[in-house]
Amino acid sequence: MLIAGNWKMYNGPAETAEFCLGLREQELEGVDVVVCPPFVSLAAAVQLLAGTEIAVAAQNVHWDDEGAFTGEVSAGMLRELGVYGTIVGHSERRQYFGETDETVSKRVHAALEAGLFVIACVGETEQERAAGETEAVLRRQLAVLEPDDNLVLAYEPVWAIGTGHTSTPEHAQEASAFIKSQVEAPVIYGGSVKPGNAAELLAQPDVDGALVGGASLELESFTAICRAAIRS
Ligand code: PEP
Repeated sequence: MLIAGNWKMYNGPAETAEFCLGLREQELEGVDVVVCPPFVSLAAAVQLLAGTEIAVAAQNVHWDDEGAFTGEVSAGMLRELGVYGTIVGHSERRQYFGETDETVSKRVHAALEAGLFVIACVGETEQERAAGETEAVLRRQLAVLEPDDNLVLAYEPVWAIGTGHTSTPEHAQEASAFIKSQVEAPVIYGGSVKPGNAAELLAQPDVDGALVGGASLELESFTAICRAAIRS
């Protein structure tokens, strides 16, 4: 089971340090835990979680080693910092920053090549779901990805992210099984995962963990979800 906290554009270095000091005191054996702070907070997280089993990942990565790409960060730079992995293709990147299946593919390949662990996000919008296009969308998004020992896929239906409208466990299971039929990799679920709904989502046979946004920002709710994963 993998529980990853996507902090989005929250938690600067000072808040990150405070969170990580609290996190390292927790008993979290039996679950793989990853925190994904914003770029500016990665160094603090790496430093404060050193010597623990808790991994630190970025939220995005560029496909080139270096170059004139203002605002971007390369996989080599993340590695130099001691970062373990990265999220790629989050729906907020696709929605607000022009991320496409093609750029997702380039980022994933570069990150894997550089030795980073990757959580690649896929999922349909509300409109696509209403039109019965969920599988077609997933098929298209997954067509650019290949299985890799360091690749995990996150099924994140866009309509469930930050909305409080969690997928039913049955839908999460069905979509995760479909994803695995396209790309053989572990699949984690993301979309309004909270301490109260984590157990039943994580109990689904093809759900191998969770990508947690809002509820990963408070130590108490994040560790409650990690404990639900330990029990599942
Ligand atoms: C996310 O940002 O990946 C996410 C799943 O957010 P939330 O848990 O807040 O829906």
